[in-house]
Amino acid sequence: MQKIPITVAHGDGIGPAIMDATLKILQAADAPLDYEKIEIGEKVYLQGNTSGIPQEAWDSFRRTKVFLKAPITTPQGKGYKSLNVTIRKTLGLYANVRPCISYHPVVETKHPVMDLVIVRENEEDLYAGIEHRQTEEVTQCLKLITKPGSEKIIRFAFEYAKAFGRKKVTCFSKDNIMKVTDGLFHGIFDDIGGEYPDMEKDHKIIDIGCALVADRPQDFDVLVTSNLYGDIMSDIAAQVSGSVGLCGSANLGENFAMFEAIHGSAPDIAGKGIANPSGLLLGAVQMLVYLGLGETATKVHNAWLKTLEDGIHTGDLFREGKSSKRLGTDEFADAVIERLGQRPTSLTAVEYPSGQSRIQGSASKTERSKKELVGVDVFLDWDKEGRNPNTLGDQLREFKAGPFELRLISNRGVKVYPEGHSETFCTDHWRCRWVSPKMEEAGKYQSVLELMSALDRAGFDVIKTENLYRFDGKLGFSLSQGE
Ligand code: NAD
Repeated sequence: MQKIPITVAHGDGIGPAIMDATLKILQAADAPLDYEKIEIGEKVYLQGNTSGIPQEAWDSFRRTKVFLKAPITTPQGKGYKSLNVTIRKTLGLYANVRPCISYHPVVETKHPVMDLVIVRENEEDLYAGIEHRQTEEVTQCLKLITKPGSEKIIRFAFEYAKAFGRKKVTCFSKDNIMKVTDGLFHGIFDDIGGEYPDMEKDHKIIDIGCALVADRPQDFDVLVTSNLYGDIMSDIAAQVSGSVGLCGSANLGENFAMFEAIHGSAPDIAGKGIANPSGLLLGAVQMLVYLGLGETATKVHNAWLKTLEDGIHTGDLFREGKSSKRLGTDEFADAVIERLGQRPTSLTAVEYPSGQSRIQGSASKTERSKKELVGVDVFLDWDKEGRNPNTLGDQLREFKAGPFELRLISNRGVKVYPEGHSETFCTDHWRCRWVSPKMEEAGKYQSVLELMSALDRAGFDVIKTENLYRFDGKLGFSLSQGE
């Protein structure tokens, strides 16, 4: 069989040890792979490359399109961009798939029945990394949720559930608070869910959702959520399944794929030879399935299950009386190799189909709607007159912009003018909303520009504006708290 080329990075901290262990097992299982080794991470960062990724690495990804990656240490301090986020976004790896399973009774866990898969959106949300300091006191980070991004990940989650015989998909969002962004995600989940009548569907608000995953993981099957929630949720799920060292992760796009452990480079145990290689190994198993090597994936996964079942554990899982042997990273790999060809008996054996088709999400074509400008939010840095909102409001009332008049001022999202509450704490960052009365009349951007000039001439410090639009008659912005 012709060997399939893949790119491999040994990473930092415990990375080289767990990668050596993983490759040793893959080689012993006769996985038909050709390894192109690249250097990324700490060394590259410290040579002055702030992305942590040299050109040769990109060349290798473009050749192989498949990347097995050990964890990386992102150096502390300003200027170093997260290499993981850069790779995911540059290669369009929009879907992050993280199965979290408990291995009762061989791995100690409070949850004997747990077998869930987190499908996390991987490119958008707060991880767009668009952050600004706007005033002396206030910083902001933009949360971007897009229609095509949400459609792709949600359809991917349903397709994944269908392909792997799963029964239920649960969406997590916080759309009771973020009605525009998380509301879009939830609405798309409901729409796309309609295309899968046989699949059970549910939605949970993320906070209670996290609590339920930690307390009753047996109630969940496939979970789909946006980037930050998925990141937090998968660490919780991995930890309650037994150890963060147990979960692998696939980052999938249309043309590229990257496989890794969910944990980091664990500098606290680096060089001690005690790290658990299981997370990376299970990432590699997902890679074998993706490559259509279901038979090898089955062989490796079952040998690993049998090793766990025999009580052979690394330090993070070892429990006196429950485990039979505590092994280091390399010896653990040897124990898995000894069991290649065996299947577990008390744990459930796996069986991957050969030639597994690749799962894809897709987005519908965007139809342009009628977009009308119905106002503008002007953000001011204002630290005068004891920060009294009434003083600011009475001054701003004089300014008009076409059909737009000052409607309200809010501070950190809470209405403070007119008729605010004197108890509300105010920073130096004011959102001042100009709209037409009843928001019925549309205006021109020229009026906004004239308003900005007038405010600037009057000595106001305008730090940014957000235009307020109506799309096909529906308002495209949230009302302020108390409005
Ligand atoms: P971490 O996941 O590296 O470690 C958290 C804890 O879990 C530590 O106590 C560690 O010893 C333990 N642990 C993790 N993996 C283990 C394993 N395989 N076997 C046994 N114990 C294990 O998280 P951290 O300490 O917050 O981050 C360390 C570094 O890793 C940071 O530089 C961070 O930026 C980076 N990081 C990288 C990735 C990645 O490359 N995908 C992911 C997360 C964190």
